Amino acid sequence: MFVSAVVLFNSDQVVSGESILALTRDLCKPATGVVSQGNDELFSRIGEELPLTLHRYASGSQQNGWVVPKRWRVERATISHNGTLLYDGASHTLAVAQLSKSFKGTVDFNELAAHVITDEKRPDAIIYHCAWQYRPWDIDWVFSIPFGEFSAFPTGGRFEIDLETIAEDGEMLVGECFVAGTTPQTIVFNSHVCHPHQANDGMAGVALLIRLFQWINARAGNRYSYRLILAPEHLGTVFYLGDRTRDELELMVSGIFAEMPGVAAPLKITSSFLGDQPIDILFAYLFGACGEKTVSVPWRKGAGNDETVWEAPGYEVPFVELTRCIDQFEPYPEYHSSLDTAESLDSEYVERFYLILKQAVEILEKNRTYQRRFDGLPCLSHPDYNLYCERPDPAVNKGLPGDSEKWGGLLDSLMRYFNGRTSTLDIALRHDLSFHLLWDYLRKFEEKGLVTSEPAVIRRHPVVSRNENSLTQGR
Ligand SMILES: [Zn+2]
Repeated sequence: MFVSAVVLFNSDQVVSGESILALTRDLCKPATGVVSQGNDELFSRIGEELPLTLHRYASGSQQNGWVVPKRWRVERATISHNGTLLYDGASHTLAVAQLSKSFKGTVDFNELAAHVITDEKRPDAIIYHCAWQYRPWDIDWVFSIPFGEFSAFPTGGRFEIDLETIAEDGEMLVGECFVAGTTPQTIVFNSHVCHPHQANDGMAGVALLIRLFQWINARAGNRYSYRLILAPEHLGTVFYLGDRTRDELELMVSGIFAEMPGVAAPLKITSSFLGDQPIDILFAYLFGACGEKTVSVPWRKGAGNDETVWEAPGYEVPFVELTRCIDQFEPYPEYHSSLDTAESLDSEYVERFYLILKQAVEILEKNRTYQRRFDGLPCLSHPDYNLYCERPDPAVNKGLPGDSEKWGGLLDSLMRYFNGRTSTLDIALRHDLSFHLLWDYLRKFEEKGLVTSEPAVIRRHPVVSRNENSLTQGR
């Protein structure tokens, strides 16, 4: 565990897509993994940006059958043919499958091909093979070779393989940054750090969340607390959550997994497990208001990340996933390959993704509920109030702005929303109104003594452990 000195960050500082990509380039340098020497370098660099606590989990640790893998590296990885070197797998981190075992011997072409991954559609790409970090019981040996090179291999004769890898005990690192607000209720952000050298899937998401937390950290008077978890995909959160107490879990009221911000494609939100939680409502509003193309899909119909861990029974933190995505099964052309570099990303798309998350925080912080101080229907046009929203009249052209019917229509229902439960966000979404304009309008109701207001509270269903009566389980 360490807390590092960090650069000063002003909450008014403008964060550009370019500045996020510059940090992404830095974060892409170390050869990271689930357990890797490169993770020390990565978290040391992140520690220059944010105060960070590191959690450590030793190789071999187990949690529900999940195992922290060994720290692994390649010593030698050559494929030769009649003494001529055809491929050096030590030349790129992705060129040998993560956790491959050693192999020395000769094989024919068919045997070699059974131990090669390549992609005809992306002839220059070295494909990322990650599965054995999650299934050490399946480990074999595999080279990842660009199709353009592999297709030029001879198909006759014998190939000499000299693959020596070292797997030794190490530690999985999970980085955590916590910013305390006036309430211990916590909004969680999560992204993964284990895909070595890959920008869109993941380091751009990591860089973007670092910039977001610098802004949150510098922001005065946060109501919510905020927790950033930067960890190897899946295994990091499995072990991190396995260590949390029930009280800690109860305070995690909403979560957002964020990655793949830089592809020129629509924003995509994948709902929480229940689909109707406050965090779902927040993104329904943000997507309606953001002015760009968006896609909303149900639970697990997105890229698929650690939300299954956060939402697992016994934790059930309502968790959404935010990405940009061309297609669920082919999210972007450079996916899981050496082509996924910061240079392939679009800074404007990165910046708009950042602004969506910033807006999410601003709305969570401002969102309120309202309690009426009257019975019956107040006359809002009375000069004492002067709160009436003039609406169009079919018989008289009043020269009203285009959205006047929406604001006028709001008044048909608004008095019923002053019930201490319905929030600014609920109303903005229901009536397709700007949250911020509505918030300003409702503040005038408070100033005129018609309502009192309180910060909206996110209620999550209680954490239920395996030992408790199944009748009390969440839905
Ligand atoms: Zn991935």
